[in-house]
Amino acid sequence: MGVKIFDTTLRDGEQSPGVSLNVEEKLRIAQQLARLKVDVIEAGFPIASEGDFAAVQKIAQEVKGPVIAALARTSFPDIDRAWQAIQEAEKPRIHTFIATSPIHMEFKLQKSPEEVLQSAVKAVERAKTYTDDVEFSAEDASRSEREFLCEIFTAVIEAGATTINIPDTVGYATPGEFGELVKYIYDNVSNIDQAEVSVHCHNDLGLAVANSIAALENGATQVECAVNGIGERAGNAALEEIALALNTRQDYYDDRTNLELQEIYRTSKLVSQLTGMDIQFNKAVVGKNAFAHESGIHQDGVIKERTTYEIMDARTIGLEENQIVLGKHSGRHAFRDKLKELGYELDDEELNKAFKRFKELADRKGEITGLDLEAIVEDQFGQSLQVMDLKLLQITTGNGLSTATIHMEKQGEKILKSVCSEGGPIDATYEAINQAADLDCQLVIFKIDAITGGKDALGHVTVKVEHQDDVYIGRGVSTDIIKASAVAYNNALNKILVASG
Ligand SMILES: [Zn+2]
Repeated sequence: MGVKIFDTTLRDGEQSPGVSLNVEEKLRIAQQLARLKVDVIEAGFPIASEGDFAAVQKIAQEVKGPVIAALARTSFPDIDRAWQAIQEAEKPRIHTFIATSPIHMEFKLQKSPEEVLQSAVKAVERAKTYTDDVEFSAEDASRSEREFLCEIFTAVIEAGATTINIPDTVGYATPGEFGELVKYIYDNVSNIDQAEVSVHCHNDLGLAVANSIAALENGATQVECAVNGIGERAGNAALEEIALALNTRQDYYDDRTNLELQEIYRTSKLVSQLTGMDIQFNKAVVGKNAFAHESGIHQDGVIKERTTYEIMDARTIGLEENQIVLGKHSGRHAFRDKLKELGYELDDEELNKAFKRFKELADRKGEITGLDLEAIVEDQFGQSLQVMDLKLLQITTGNGLSTATIHMEKQGEKILKSVCSEGGPIDATYEAINQAADLDCQLVIFKIDAITGGKDALGHVTVKVEHQDDVYIGRGVSTDIIKASAVAYNNALNKILVASG
């Protein structure tokens, strides 16, 4: 059977401070999660906003394979709305929750334990009228009274819940204690054999993965986690760490996930790019340094025999970064095949555009790696919602002054702007784009990375722009960093224009 992976990147992960994904981006992540073969995708919290609803609905309609779950509090409007969003899914799940700890019940809910129990049971019964697959979470379970927790779990299973979830909502538990809590629940919930037991751990003390694994050792059958460990505050248990811990130490755990591990690296990168949340270099499994060796002794050892200092093989997670996959003589056919291998299915028009960019890059660089190809396609996907199209950018710079001249097309209208600035070429460019867009917004983050090494490397620019309290992420890729910067900024402003209709 394997441990079930319930991925909450699109729900809890999307609640990370500073992250906001649009419908198209959420769908792309969900499709990649399906390729990774997670068991459950928690697609969002439909009652929270129209945007959340639309994303959950789209994912339910289009993503096949995993169960598609939607979150709901115990109130009926929440549950009805969740169902509306997921009803077209191949395998829909309603996930309802209510807090069960004394502190949450008294101060947040202002309800007695008896009222909380009644709400939970009624919510599960309501959800059950829509779908057989119902999950119930006891929010802040790790700080709840154990007797009450067992009482409420018994009651919701009786009402038809097929999964019960034990969250360590505030990241307070320790591994020994949390494993013991799971065991206690198995021992004291009489009908527990009728439900899957799930855990949802937060990383406030850096213990989310350890706590999740302790729960598995005590019988839990599902873990809730997020790609790159993103989520509220310090985040959730990291999906890739749980998967690789079980895989690498199969000798000890004798259990594993159903994941397509080769998709891990690509999923991690996609989530990082679309959310704009960097992965720390020393992050386990997917960090830039996770498979790098600095000391001579280690390098020497690895060259002689990889397993001297490596417990995992980078290829297990699909990391083959710098492999040259295409050259400047590669044709359309080879290009399309390679993209397919990388998991991209493009229609003819998209393929033509991407191929043109590939040719331009190949003419400059000669050798194209898998990462370059992904960057081109990702960039193209990112630019698909254009209200405002940057047709031309010309920069002159010298004597402390830079002038940017742009030709922008905004819904068929041609706009020309020229801005002179003492702040450098990027500053001048951004001011010109601002004037063309006619928006009141603020650049909050500007970041530039090289996708591959060498002086011909593609530059990847990420910006975060604030507009009316919402944050929009823009990305741009080019061998010319000023152009990449312009594209990224234009991309973010386009998202604002699309969002504000
Ligand atoms: Zn959470």
